[in-house]
Amino acid sequence: MTVGNMESIELFDAGKKGRGLRTTKELSAGEVVFAEPSFSAVVFDSLYTQVCHSCFRRQANLHRCAQCKFAHYCNRTCQTGCWDEHKQECSAIKKYGKAPSEKIRLAARVLWRMHKDTGVVTDGQLASVDQLQEHVAEMSQDDLKELNTDVHNFLKYWSHKSKQHSVEYVSHIFGIIGCNGFTLSDQRGLQAVGVGLFPNLCLVNHDCWPNCTVILNHGNQSALNSVLHSQRRIELRALEKIAEGEELTIGYVDFLNLSADRQRALKQQYHFDCTCQPCSQHTKDDLMMAAKEGEGSKPSAELVKEVTAFSKECLEKVEKRRAEGDFHEVVKLCRECLEKQENVLADTHLYKLRLLSIISEVLSFQHCFSEAADYTSRMVEGYRKLYHPNNAQLGMATMRAGVTQWHAGQIEAGHGMICRAYAILMVTHGPNHPITRDLESMRMQTEMELKLFKQNEEVYHTMREAALKSQPMCTVTSS
Ligand SMILES: [Zn+2]
Ligand SMILES: [Zn+2]
Ligand SMILES: [Zn+2]
Repeated sequence: MTVGNMESIELFDAGKKGRGLRTTKELSAGEVVFAEPSFSAVVFDSLYTQVCHSCFRRQANLHRCAQCKFAHYCNRTCQTGCWDEHKQECSAIKKYGKAPSEKIRLAARVLWRMHKDTGVVTDGQLASVDQLQEHVAEMSQDDLKELNTDVHNFLKYWSHKSKQHSVEYVSHIFGIIGCNGFTLSDQRGLQAVGVGLFPNLCLVNHDCWPNCTVILNHGNQSALNSVLHSQRRIELRALEKIAEGEELTIGYVDFLNLSADRQRALKQQYHFDCTCQPCSQHTKDDLMMAAKEGEGSKPSAELVKEVTAFSKECLEKVEKRRAEGDFHEVVKLCRECLEKQENVLADTHLYKLRLLSIISEVLSFQHCFSEAADYTSRMVEGYRKLYHPNNAQLGMATMRAGVTQWHAGQIEAGHGMICRAYAILMVTHGPNHPITRDLESMRMQTEMELKLFKQNEEVYHTMREAALKSQPMCTVTSS
């Protein structure tokens, strides 16, 4: 599959939603619908010395551009590869005296790129960048004020030698970036490091239960042979079998919210009313707020209401303490609240799942793996009842659970979880993604350990001690 190959998709009129993309052939789960390099992208202001401005890898000892002293690169290969994109920016930064904010840098990169391409839609690009959607007309007073400041600063930064643009046109470009900017993560998908524009991806509409997922895959940047380095690019991957002619969709917001909350978030951020099937039928809303059922007595409506309110308050406290770095208090609050919820709220209740996610993460961080393993596996069981079976978040959570169980010495459960995660990531990330590769080696290692464990427990424990000393699995749990 070549980058920019758009053979299996076409633009169509998706009614109220505007333009949309649909497939021209049947797709199977895990198939790459298309891959697309970024039109333009920039590293976040806060990370400009820690992330390569060319390949977006996060690493130590980056080399600084000698001229603007702002851009940073892994090595000469990355610097040379990025020069075309950086050339005009480099002299603009020198003249401006400093680098402007990421939004302004991105807007300038977009415009320089458009001038270079002389506005012609390049091969494989289905729509030109300045025809993408924006909602400047619907912006609030505060947002408009911020936009005006950005445009004002942009015009000061924009070189006098470059083609001049009206305030309206620059505002329009900022509007497009605001609506369509896509967050880029580092090579392991663990940290958001920048923002970029992918014009074809912008044409894919939202659905709360989407049939595709989008994943960044920068290829093997650590390879010595630069031929193996790929451009910054995304892949649109099918989550399930998709029939010919069906619309392709992705989820702009996490499904793990009540339909009304998802609709509110979409309206606020993307300015549309979601009328997808799960929203109009409130699919799984009941599960996300359900009371505990099953053997024994059912909790009274009163008690459910009380515990729900208590949990909501507790979550706010937990978030605050977490932000302050008071992890001891976070664990204490979570334990208390989970105990209160135990016989009252269902295992799929959102407030329970949020607490489980937080406490397991903190406990893993503190190396309390046994307790963390119990919480993560409960979280994954809840997720499995709510998410699409091939949801990427489900895959990542399953991987986390497997690694935690492995650390806790639960080799059988851990291996099972890692295999499950691997199956999901083969669809959502594909076999060549760095995370899938990590998982593959974990799968092989745990498989071998499990065999040993079944043959001779004593030998297994000796080997495990040795393995823990070299800590081969730490790459995934530490960020
Ligand atoms: Zn690099
Ligand atoms: Zn420079
Ligand atoms: Zn929806």
